[in-house]
Parts: sequence; structure tokens; C-alpha cells
Amino acid sequence: MTESRQNKGPWIHRFLIGLFSIITGLLCFWLLGFVVNDIVSWPGPSYETLEKRRLDQTVVAQQIALAHQIADIERKIANQNNRQKLLRDSTASSQTTMNQLLEFQKLSLQKDVKPSPDQQQALADSQKRFLANQKQYQVLNQEIVKFNQELKDLRNQQRKVTEKIHAERKPIQAEFEALESRHEITVAVLQLSVLVPLLLIAVVLFLKFRGGTYAPLVYAFCVAVLIKVAMVMHEHFPSRYFKYVLILATLAIVVRILVHLLRMIAFPRTDWLLKRYLEAYEVFLCPVCSYPIRRGPLRYAFWTRRSIKKMRPRPTGEADREEIYTCPSCSTQLHEKCSQCGEVRHSLLPSCHACGDTKSVELIATP
Ligand SMILES: [Zn+2]
Ligand SMILES: [Zn+2]
Repeated sequence: MTESRQNKGPWIHRFLIGLFSIITGLLCFWLLGFVVNDIVSWPGPSYETLEKRRLDQTVVAQQIALAHQIADIERKIANQNNRQKLLRDSTASSQTTMNQLLEFQKLSLQKDVKPSPDQQQALADSQKRFLANQKQYQVLNQEIVKFNQELKDLRNQQRKVTEKIHAERKPIQAEFEALESRHEITVAVLQLSVLVPLLLIAVVLFLKFRGGTYAPLVYAFCVAVLIKVAMVMHEHFPSRYFKYVLILATLAIVVRILVHLLRMIAFPRTDWLLKRYLEAYEVFLCPVCSYPIRRGPLRYAFWTRRSIKKMRPRPTGEADREEIYTCPSCSTQLHEKCSQCGEVRHSLLPSCHACGDTKSVELIATP
């Protein structure tokens, strides 16, 4: 009997066991997390290298050269525009000077004063400068027109090249997406290839050691592995599928518990069975079929599980004598002669009340 009674230890001991079990579970969970994260950080495909390999590099070079040329032309146009602006200013100022000199000359002629050679020279100079400026302005204009035409051509070329690259990129992008999803699946498979064996180990440990001395350790490990597996699955499977996985797992657990409870009733465990026998003997009912044990002072009484507590059986002298008893309903022996001391004892309880002799639990469990 002693081996079936579990030694639970003082509460501080039990508390520490619980605490360290939780810590063990947390550490297991973290360790699994590090492993899983290391697998996730495994580098996937790189779009840049794929494009470098698959895209026509001469077209890319062409695109870059075109961009350079366009920038160059744009800079030139801006430069010419700037020069034109300066020329415009210079022309305007020389025009003003020329007009002033002409006005001056007109006034002098009206007064019949002949302009000095200096004045004439100045007028001629300003006229010359004005004409030269005009000419240069025209030249610049022509150049700008030419540059603009070049720019237009370059832009056209650039558009064509860009379109070409865009068209070439489409299959590359599709290939990259395929590579990336393949990488994701590989990562998931790697993660599961670490977690599934651990899960199997957890299941085996749970089935073998859940009732043993190291049960808290087993529970901590199992819970950590289970949560991590659920998290990884949630990460990689769309929640539509995960919902089913989760509900099936929960269903399996609930069904397992239900089966366990049903089996406990059909094939009771010995300690649980002894408790039931004890309770039945206390209310003088057959532990097997619940038929009243009518012996001693209760020989002619009638009671139920509830009413027996209010009855006070009185000693009736001769009828008090202990005698062996078999349930008339199910033929189970309920009181028998002790093999050690010869007193009448309970057949389905471990110890004799008179001599303390103990029966093996297995013998009681299968009456
Ligand atoms: Zn019975
Ligand atoms: Zn005895």
C-alpha cells in the first residue's frame, strides 16, 4: 500500500518544484526560439544579383550612358541660356548707350554743331557692339535649338530603353518571387525538421513519464515545444489553414482527456478505486454494486447514501458479533476472516483493523 501513496513533500518544496518547472519551460522555449530565429535569418535570394545575372547588362549600360548624356545636354542648355541672358543685358545696355549718343548727335546737328570724331567713334563702337551682340545672340539661339533637338532624341531613346528594361524585368521579378517563396518553404521545413523530432520526443516523454517522478520536467518541456511549434505553424501557414490545425489539435486533446476519464471509470486506478471502496464502506453500501450491506445492527434497516448519516445504529447485543459477509446482489466478498488474526475484516480495504495486516492493492482492486 505504501508505494501507491505519493509523497508530496512540504509546501515550500512543492512550490519550488513548480517554480523551477516554469523556469525550465521558459528556458526551453527561449532556446527553441533562438534556434528557430537563427534558421529564419538564413539569407534568402537577392534581387540585385539575380537582375545582374539575368538582365542584359549592355542595355543597362546604355541606360546609364543615356542618363549621363541627357544630364550633359541639359547642363549645356542651361549654360547657353545663361549666356543668352548676359548678352541680352549687354545688348540692352549698348542699345541705351547708342540711343543716347544718337539723341545727342541729333541735338548737335540741330544746333549745327558737328559731332567730334570721338563722339562719332563712340557711336560707331556702340553700333558695332550692338550688331555683334545680336549676331552672337542668334548663334546662341541656334545652338540652343540644336541642343533641344538632341535632348528630344536622347529622351526618346531613353524612353525606349526604359521600356525594354521594364519588359525584361517582369520575368525576373516573377522568378525572384518564386525563389523567395521557395526560400520561405525551405526555412519552414528546416524549422519543422528541428521542431517535429522534438515534438515526437515530447510526446514519447509525456506518454512514458507523465506520472513519474520527473513529470514536472516533462510537462515543462512538452508545453515549451508545443507553443513553439504552434507559433512556427502560425507564422508559415495562412491563418485559414492554421485555424483547422488548431481546432484539430484542441479536439484531439479534449477527446484524449474524455477517453482518459471514461477509462478511469471503466478501469479505475487503484488509489482512486480504494477511495471509492472506503466511501462505500462508510455508508454501508456494497462498493461494487451499491447494494446495502445488511449486517449487524443494520440487518433489517433501510437507508440510502444520504439517509444513513441521520441514522444512529444502536448496539443490539448478539447481532453485533462481526461475521463474514458477501454482497447478495453482486456476490462480492465484503467482510472476511483475516488470514493473520482470524478477526472479521473488510475485504476491499488494505489493512485489517484488528492486527494491521495489509493486503496487496492488486488483490483488492480485482475482487
Ligand atoms: Zn454488491
Ligand atoms: Zn487481522
